[in-house]
Amino acid sequence: MLGQQRIDLLQRVPRLKPMLKSRLFPPALMLVTLFVFMLAILSGLFGTPAGSRNFGIIFVWIVWWALLIILLVPFFGRAWCTICPIPAPGEWLQRRAIVNRTSGRLRTLRWRWPRRLKNLWLQNFGFLGVAIFSALILTRPNISAWLLLTLMIMGVALSLLYENRVFCRYVCPVGGFIGLYSLVAPVELRVSDPQICASHKTKDCITGNEQGYGCPWMVFPGKLARNNYCGLCLECLKTCPKNNIVINLRPFGSDLLVAKERRLDEAYKAFIMLGCALLYAGVLLGPWGWIKQWANMDTLPHWALYAAGFLVINLVVLPGLFWVTTAFARRLAGQSISLRHLFVDYAYALIPLGLAAWIAFSFGFVLVNGSYAPGVLSDPLGWGWNLFGTANVPWTPLWPTLIPFLQVGVLIAGLLFAIHIAYRIARQNSSGHRQAYLAMLPLGGFMAAITFMFLRLYAG
Ligand code: SF4
Ligand code: SF4
Repeated sequence: MLGQQRIDLLQRVPRLKPMLKSRLFPPALMLVTLFVFMLAILSGLFGTPAGSRNFGIIFVWIVWWALLIILLVPFFGRAWCTICPIPAPGEWLQRRAIVNRTSGRLRTLRWRWPRRLKNLWLQNFGFLGVAIFSALILTRPNISAWLLLTLMIMGVALSLLYENRVFCRYVCPVGGFIGLYSLVAPVELRVSDPQICASHKTKDCITGNEQGYGCPWMVFPGKLARNNYCGLCLECLKTCPKNNIVINLRPFGSDLLVAKERRLDEAYKAFIMLGCALLYAGVLLGPWGWIKQWANMDTLPHWALYAAGFLVINLVVLPGLFWVTTAFARRLAGQSISLRHLFVDYAYALIPLGLAAWIAFSFGFVLVNGSYAPGVLSDPLGWGWNLFGTANVPWTPLWPTLIPFLQVGVLIAGLLFAIHIAYRIARQNSSGHRQAYLAMLPLGGFMAAITFMFLRLYAG
């Protein structure tokens, strides 16, 4: 059954554990991603303004984005956070080291992060803030570079003020959605036996020891039930003296069924991600040229109208329609649980659908534009270099006739999985199968209608 089988990867692949326990992992990989990240910023600031010839635009918004959405997040959850360069300089400053475990406390001003901000709301609004400027960010290298630089400066500044990875946990707009979709991934870090943690007095995974640091994500592994707030930094694998940390392979979507940790801020993240996917598809693939112009800020009033519509659809219209659907499902099934509770719970069924929509969108993007990558690799700044002899590789869309089939297949698979999850959640809130099936009817209809809109936009 979903959520029950587990395969301990560290036991199955014995060579993995010593590699992951080495203090070189992950800093060695972070240094590589940091180099690429700095090159993306430099090419944005000093390279060609032509997006298709600029390393920053092509490698961040096409290559990295496609890798993240199509491969890393669906299959490895928060694995990107393991090697992400954005928080690296701040974390290294806190530790006064890149690889070694330094003694003493982290070097910060030790401010306290406000209690009311210990949730996803900043990340929700941060993502929307980036999304309404995305037509500019995705096409103008200098704007893209300033965004990347701002994220890195924020990461460093917050590391100097607060202990640990406050930026990743509460601020980073990318981390918010990676966390949400990591609930679907078939890989998890957990403890092998929670009883061992309960009776372990020193709790080295929190305090740290000479092998490693206390959890930088401020998580207690002994109570981990879902993927979304564990950044897979693997410090706990290094510090745990009881050998109690495991990395499991498990069925897709297991965390979506963890009932006790569902929250309104996460539910809203699911709406925002689904809404943004729908709006991007509409703006970039739909037949309405005027929306494209508004999104590209042809005039300030047009863009303001576009931004207002974007926010209203994400924050009011989509959640509002889902609220009405949930109310109908509750009445049809005769459920006595509060409407707010059901609204939050059922929103988690939208997570696989949103992820499928982003995968479908990204397939189109990367297969059509991926052939720009060899060119910018040889000439990252667009200055006429030819470092690897690939500067003149022509733009050639890959398998253009296959793209709609891929997109339709992914969307249908996402819908079926979302319906399955919705049924499982309905079952958690019902007294029997019949009640759950009745609740499912409006929810399934809602998700099918959204999928139909995507299909119209992707497949024409
Ligand atoms: S150090 Fe290991 S055994 Fe102890 S609380 Fe942490 S994960 Fe559990
Ligand atoms: S639980 Fe372990 S792997 Fe996850 S963020 Fe904390 S220390 Fe890192």
